[in-house]
Amino acid sequence: MQTTEAPIEVDDELEFESAEAVLHWALQKFGQDVALATGFGAEGCVLIRMLAGIDTNARIFYLDTDLLFPETYELIKKLEANYGVHFEQRTSRLSVAAQAASYGERLWEREPDVCCQLRKVDPLREMLSGLRAWITAIRREQTPTRAGARVVERDRKFDLIKINPLAAWSRRDVWRYIKEHDVPYNELYDRGYRSIGCQPCTTLVQIDEEERAGRWRGTAKTECGLHQ
Ligand code: SF4
Repeated sequence: MQTTEAPIEVDDELEFESAEAVLHWALQKFGQDVALATGFGAEGCVLIRMLAGIDTNARIFYLDTDLLFPETYELIKKLEANYGVHFEQRTSRLSVAAQAASYGERLWEREPDVCCQLRKVDPLREMLSGLRAWITAIRREQTPTRAGARVVERDRKFDLIKINPLAAWSRRDVWRYIKEHDVPYNELYDRGYRSIGCQPCTTLVQIDEEERAGRWRGTAKTECGLHQ
């Protein structure tokens, strides 16, 4: 629940703490008023494992666009069973069919920003309005737009604290952690996907392409609107 207490100062000292230490701090500071947002990418799986090791009641949510890959839905079940956690599902107010009726079929091909707004940004805003802080799995090296991310920062778009425990991690760090701790991950990674979102907007990535090149291929779009 949103409270009226004074806004916390953003703590730069956490910049050099381990991801686990940052999560401990977040849970101590915000309790049930902080939640991890995950799309079940490799980074999200790392944070889910870490959070579950601290408190299986820590809040974790995902934006279910109804357009995720079947492999992602399988992974969700596996992570819940493995770690004893429960993921809060947030959905668009419009079903895919209702969206098609109002905006036309396959909106993601014509106006992906509108589609992301309806299926991701609006449900996220609704979810975040009940929190004081959120935790994300973004890393600075993923895209130029994420390069300036701090471990703890003020999210001016959604008006709360944003915590990015993996901001300084490399892709190699993520996969090392996954292998060392036998963390379940989306099997699509083994088939050449490197960033996995909604099925209609995710394609395979070539070896010489950047990590998120497979998202919204053929358009200038690089983000859903959650981290801008
Ligand atoms: S990623 Fe594609 S399908 Fe998913 S919400 Fe955005 S535009 Fe729509």
